[in-house]
This record gives sequence, structure tokens and C-alpha cells, in this order.
Amino acid sequence: MDIQTIGIVGAGQMGNGIAHVMALAGYDVLLTDVSADALQKAVDTITGNLDRQVGRGKVAEADRDAALARIVTTQTLSDLGQSDLVIEAATERETVKQAIFEDLIPHLKPTTILTSNTSSISITRLASRTDRPEKFMGFHFMNPVPVMQLVELIRGIATDKETFAACRAVVDKLGKTAASAEDFPAFIVNRILMPMINEAVYTLYEGVGSVESIDSSLKLGANHPMGPLELADFIGLDTCLAIMNVLHDGLADTKYRPCPLLTKYVEAGWLGRKTSRGFYDYRGDVPVPTR
Ligand code: NAD
Repeated sequence: MDIQTIGIVGAGQMGNGIAHVMALAGYDVLLTDVSADALQKAVDTITGNLDRQVGRGKVAEADRDAALARIVTTQTLSDLGQSDLVIEAATERETVKQAIFEDLIPHLKPTTILTSNTSSISITRLASRTDRPEKFMGFHFMNPVPVMQLVELIRGIATDKETFAACRAVVDKLGKTAASAEDFPAFIVNRILMPMINEAVYTLYEGVGSVESIDSSLKLGANHPMGPLELADFIGLDTCLAIMNVLHDGLADTKYRPCPLLTKYVEAGWLGRKTSRGFYDYRGDVPVPTR
């Protein structure tokens, strides 16, 4: 399968990173979002991040300019019809993703591969509601996309070998490393990472440690580059909660129950860095713990 044009649905923190690495690798990118503001922000972010890479000598100026010229933004979903591969990276809500696939499918070529960047939703279930379950799979990037080396590739029960091979070839062309994961809730990385973050929130909730002592314990005691609460703020507390709910529901084991304090932060709208407040308050010059 020859993949040249890649459609990306959702221009948030993941969508803009995916557009960035795809354009830099030479793919033509069609980036769509319901929000004009999100599309403008995405272009600004990609431009800023590419400029930084040029500044560090990692990307040539001509390659930056060529990459930016390969990205076309649109608010019209059907404009993605000519894509060879679509990566859906919209909000982590099953109804949202399902509606996107329903609206998009009538405009796609029969050969187009359809994928989702979902962190946790069943690939097999998403695929079963499309016209092409054999050409559907999970294409899961890590955040921030331009920096992180791993891409999890998740086969649904019906995904065919050619589709998997085509997606693996795209990952290779990006210079990233693919890990194959089976389609069980939250796949590999989040299946292990999210319960650790949730346990860190329980440790805070039960008063075992403060935000600072929990984060410095894992950084200095387990050699993690970021503390778990700092990392949760970076990912987004709403996303963390959504993934814990998927693990809890999907595996039906109480060990995955989301910590009530995590729920409380999300109820408050304190979602981490993206809202300037989470386990830390980012509104000043330096982050200040909120508990
Ligand atoms: P985000 O909130 O930053 O961006 C989501 C974007 O989707 C928004 O710009 C929103 O306007 C857009 N959107 C919503 N409905 C839409 C629709 N119907 N059509 C087009 N666009 C629509 O979220 P994000 O962090 O970029 O996450 C996106 C996906 O990537 C989710 O499935 C998430 O689970 C997954 N993911 C997130 C991370 C992470 O660390 N944040 C890591 C890996 C995967």
C-alpha cells in the first residue's frame, strides 16, 4: 500500500504533534478540527516547534519550510476523503470518535486505512462500527509526539496483515519505534502507567505524602524523569480519569478504581497544564503545589 497523504482528525496537543512529524517525514498532511481556533493554534505550535528544532540544528531551514508547506488545514471533514491513511486524534470520548467515523467514511476511498490515536478505547469496537474493520487499527503516539520515540500499534480482532504492515512502514519512515499491543483496555503503556499515577493520587489523598514529596520520591528514588503528579498534569487529568474509567469498566477489577481526589480535580476543571492548574498551579513563574 502506497501511503502519501495522511488525514488527521483533531488538532489538539496530539493532532498537531502528529501533523508535525508526518510533514517532516515527507507526507502530505490534511489536518481538520471542528474549532478554527484549534487549527490556528496547531499551525502556530508546529511552526514554533519546528523553529526550535532548526535553532538546535536538528532540522534544516529548507526542511522546515517544506514540512510547513505540506500541511493543509480545513474545518471540513470531507476534505480528508483523498487520504491514504487517516489518524483520528479527537477528544477521548467514544461517541465523538464514532460520529467522526460515520461522517467521514462516505467520503473515503475503499483503500483508505482508518486508525485511531485513542489511549484506551477498544479498537475492535470502534472498528466494528465502520465499513472496514479489516482496514482499521490503533495508531497510538506518545506525548509530546515530536520527542517520544514509541508508537503503539494495536490490531483489532479483524485487522488484516497488510494494514498492520502499512502502518508499521509509516512508523519506520518517521524514524520511530513501533511496539505491537493486543487490543485490551489501555494497551501496554497506559495499562502500566495510569495505575501508577492513580496510586500516586491515592498516596496524596490518604496523606502519605505531599505533592512535592511524592514527585521527588519517584524522581530521586526510582529515577523517573518526571514525578507522577507532574506527569499527570502534563497528560491532562481528564484524560487520566477517562483512562482509569476504561480500565475499571473494561477489566472489571476494583484495583483500577479511580481515586476520588482525581475525580475532584476534574470536577473543579483543574485539568493540569492545559488549564494552568492541576496538582500544581502554573499561573506564576514557577509551578506551586495545590495541596
Ligand atoms: P485535545 O483536547 O488536546 O485535542 C482534541 C481536539 O479534538 C480538540 O482540538 C477538539 O476541538 C477536537 N475535536 C473534538 N471533536 C471533534 C470532531 N468532531 N471533529 C474534529 N475535531 C474534533 O486532546 P489530545 O490530548 O490531543 O487527545 C486526542 C486523542 O489522543 C485522544 O484520543 C487521547 O486519548 C489521545 N492521546 C492523548 C495523549 C496525551 O498525553 N494527551 C497521549 C496519547 C494519545
